[in-house]
Amino acid sequence: MVETLKNYIAGKWTESTSGKTFENENPSKRGEILNCAQSSTSEEMRQAIDKASEVFPMWRNTPVETRQKLVGEFLKLLADSRDELAAAVTRENGKTIRESHSEIDSALLEGEYHHRQISTFSGHVAISNKFGVAWEQYHPLGVVGIISPWNYPVNVMCRKTLPALLTGNTVVFKPASFTPWSATIMARLFESAGFPPGVFNCITGMGSSVGNAIIKDRRIRAVSFTGSTSVGRKIQALAAENLTRTQLELGGKNALIVMDDANLDEAVQAAVAAGFGCSGQWCTSTSRILLHRDISVKFIEKLVQVANGMKVGDPLDRSTDMGPVAGPDQFENISTAIAKAEKDGAKLLCGGVLKPDIGGYFIRPTVFDDVTPSMEIFREEIFGPVLGITKFTCLDEAIDLANKSAYGLSSAIFTGNIKSAQKYIDLMDAGMAHVNIHTGFKTPEMPFGGWKESGFGQPENSRTGLDFFVDRKAVYLRGI
Ligand code: NAP
Ligand code: MG
Repeated sequence: MVETLKNYIAGKWTESTSGKTFENENPSKRGEILNCAQSSTSEEMRQAIDKASEVFPMWRNTPVETRQKLVGEFLKLLADSRDELAAAVTRENGKTIRESHSEIDSALLEGEYHHRQISTFSGHVAISNKFGVAWEQYHPLGVVGIISPWNYPVNVMCRKTLPALLTGNTVVFKPASFTPWSATIMARLFESAGFPPGVFNCITGMGSSVGNAIIKDRRIRAVSFTGSTSVGRKIQALAAENLTRTQLELGGKNALIVMDDANLDEAVQAAVAAGFGCSGQWCTSTSRILLHRDISVKFIEKLVQVANGMKVGDPLDRSTDMGPVAGPDQFENISTAIAKAEKDGAKLLCGGVLKPDIGGYFIRPTVFDDVTPSMEIFREEIFGPVLGITKFTCLDEAIDLANKSAYGLSSAIFTGNIKSAQKYIDLMDAGMAHVNIHTGFKTPEMPFGGWKESGFGQPENSRTGLDFFVDRKAVYLRGI
């Protein structure tokens, strides 16, 4: 019998009244059920919102030092649980154990940043006017909803939840259905850290029911969502009904430009790190490589050699370079996209789908050449270890190609020329521009968000990570 995970609502671990659960499968061993999670209903979400609303006045009036202390305690427990949590992430998501550890380290780094930042997060200084003084004051919003994806189940959740709690909001959290285990472990850490019941609630279940119930509830003041652009659109449309504030971190089709004066070994490393890391399942992964024609033969030779040498297999084995993709839906989608790219005329240089009989949802690092802007592989997010190469002859053409996308999340250029770098920085339509660094690199001080169809609302991290969760009040005081 596998363990049945429970919801964490109002400080209690409860089962759904639906009486139903769903299975959490290990993507590296098809058919191995790790545990089951509650198929909750909108009624459970309503109960969680009831409680989060009830305790909001208490939490809002809790001194910021106390909120900061509790978040500090959570971060300490997160660090202590690093190995347990990394193993759960690897087993339910399929990323390698090294990648899971680094995800948790990233959550800690960002969490510690916000934990420090809250100390100096206050309204602006008083400005005098003809009647007296005025200043800007910040207030928490109330109950906020957090909906996260399966690809970074720890990092994304913490990047949203910790700023929400630090600024005095109460939280209802719905994790992705592929990763309920790591979510439940984190809910336990919130409980152990001593957060008052109802301040943080975790409810598992389908996006279309439990997720939807968050957005439909008028008491929800803001929703922070990370996931696909198609679901983001639905959320935005629903949120408009109640004028709920949204922060949407969505899909990407990130380009890496390699100029003829680039350090090719470093550029290949960047393509591999951001193209095949986490089996290509990160929003800021590289999926399009734009190559200067003069170095294309050399670059491709090196890239294919590294890709073919990568060890794909058991993600718990430390010598594995790449694990499986997260589940049957992803396996199916990526396989279909690979077949479509071949049909459209792109040239498969290496990789492809591994036969399902090897036990899990494995896809080898895949590279396509001769990709043109009209092909789906150039335009659509595949969210798998698949790179498409398009060649160019000058920088203007490269930037034009890079911007030929509905998305605008991350990007990178490899060049030895500062003028080329500057032009790219100025003209690239994306929320992140990297020079001689791969597309996935980020630090907590910098805004994390996308342009165009890659995002909406204030970015995460940086100062805006906290800003999103507060209302502003302009105070005008006339002396008595
Ligand atoms: P997804 O299918 O959009 O799901 C994301 C979350 O939304 C899940 O918790 C899902 O629940 C829930 N959901 C689904 N339908 C919903 C609805 N109608 N109402 C409310 N919630 C709903 O995305 P995913 O497959 O988990 O993640 C991959 C996507 O996330 C990719 O497109 C990737 O680029 C994007 N992503 C973006 C960023 C960023 O920062 N920009 C970071 C990471 C990932 P269920 O799991 O129950 O369906
Ligand atoms: Mg799973």
